[in-house]
Amino acid sequence: MNEAILVPIEMAVTWRYASGAAMERFCSGLMERRIEALRCGVCRRSYLPPRPICGNCHAPLSEWVSVADEGRLEAWTVLQVPMLDARTGDMREAPYGMGLIQLDGADTTINHYLAESDPARLSIGLRVRAVWRPEPRGAMDDIVHFEVLR
Ligand SMILES: [Zn+2]
Repeated sequence: MNEAILVPIEMAVTWRYASGAAMERFCSGLMERRIEALRCGVCRRSYLPPRPICGNCHAPLSEWVSVADEGRLEAWTVLQVPMLDARTGDMREAPYGMGLIQLDGADTTINHYLAESDPARLSIGLRVRAVWRPEPRGAMDDIVHFEVLR
């Protein structure tokens, strides 16, 4: 059996990410604590995060609609292992909750952190609300996490 060869390499990498026209408007709205979805003019499905083409009927999307920063928890999990947060580059200590959240006015879900990490206190159908960072900067982490409304 061959032994694995390990070659440690350290790289300093910086980059800029082009979000696209739909995400640019979406992120601009976040700076004002406004969440916008794109609605299909044909089948009326509202997409959040916004996307340029309808997944149902393939029509181009251009009708922006505001959605609430509250919604319904459609799925959830509690992670038990610390993970690198791809949004910030920081380690996120475990446990922490993740959810698929359908905001009021949207027909799709967004994936985001949950303030609650106790599985006994989480269930599908719970109402949740965005907790905003004090000074939004136009990124998805302007929403720190979603808190459960009791
Ligand atoms: Zn459509």
